[in-house]
Amino acid sequence: MTKELIFGHKNPDTDAIIAAIAYSYMMNESGKDTEAVALGEPNEETKFVFNHFNYDYPRIISSADTKQVMLVDHNEPKQSVDNISDVEITNVIDHHRIANFETANPLFYHAEPLGSTSTIIWKLMNQARIEIPATLAGLMMSAIISDTLLLKSPTTTNEDEAALKSLSKTAGLDYESYGLEMLKAGTNLASKSAKELIEMDAKTFDMNNKSIRIDQINTVDLDETLQRKAEFEEAIKAEMSAENENLFILLITNILTSDTKAIVLGDDESVSVFEKTFDQKLVDNIALLPGVVSRKKQVVPQLNANF
Ligand code: MN
Ligand code: MN
Repeated sequence: MTKELIFGHKNPDTDAIIAAIAYSYMMNESGKDTEAVALGEPNEETKFVFNHFNYDYPRIISSADTKQVMLVDHNEPKQSVDNISDVEITNVIDHHRIANFETANPLFYHAEPLGSTSTIIWKLMNQARIEIPATLAGLMMSAIISDTLLLKSPTTTNEDEAALKSLSKTAGLDYESYGLEMLKAGTNLASKSAKELIEMDAKTFDMNNKSIRIDQINTVDLDETLQRKAEFEEAIKAEMSAENENLFILLITNILTSDTKAIVLGDDESVSVFEKTFDQKLVDNIALLPGVVSRKKQVVPQLNANF
């Protein structure tokens, strides 16, 4: 029998991968036969996590070869496997907006506006009285640290904090020192091309029939990263024409100061929606977004409202 596949979104981040692993563990403990898979290579931060815990990264797929699948950390078809419309979605565990999502059959859909999908799964495992092994606890705490930027993102809830503290106890690992080391590992940008960097954490959103691409890069030095602006712009333009995007926003976020500068390119109409949304004129394609760290809470809903 083929195992039912569980996966997070394309261009996976640490939460997308680990939520799939944790949910697969929970499902299998409950008698199901599932396999966690990934829709892409690990980023630098995720690599650090899997090295740290000496854990194997899941098998990578681009389309699903089973009839049924479970989605974690996403629901929008554009962010899922290429053949998502041909398979049956039986379960969704997510903490994003719900958009362009419909199914033919009833399903188990669990969404909560928490800081990470792994926090939701931690709650579900507690409810089901499933014990979390130390290594899985270490992985899950990494996912929470990643999505909440060590509890500093405005998406962070009390439940994320409780989950992180409890998992850190189970893993026997100090989350503050480990978390800073982990986040810094994800800001190792020098060895990557601009094209690789913009594709690392890329998401495309449909807003009123416009295709809006919003990518995010974490750094510990905004100005140093922006020294590569010309290179980024070239990569963005190539990607926009290849994928027919109307607007491309590259969020460059300083994880230590919780500030973002964005490189924004697009058609005139979409750029003016961006400028209206964030109440500023772009200067040399750059927008200043102080205090902005969360794409899902501080960028996507505001833009969507104006589109
Ligand atoms: Mn994610
Ligand atoms: Mn997430």
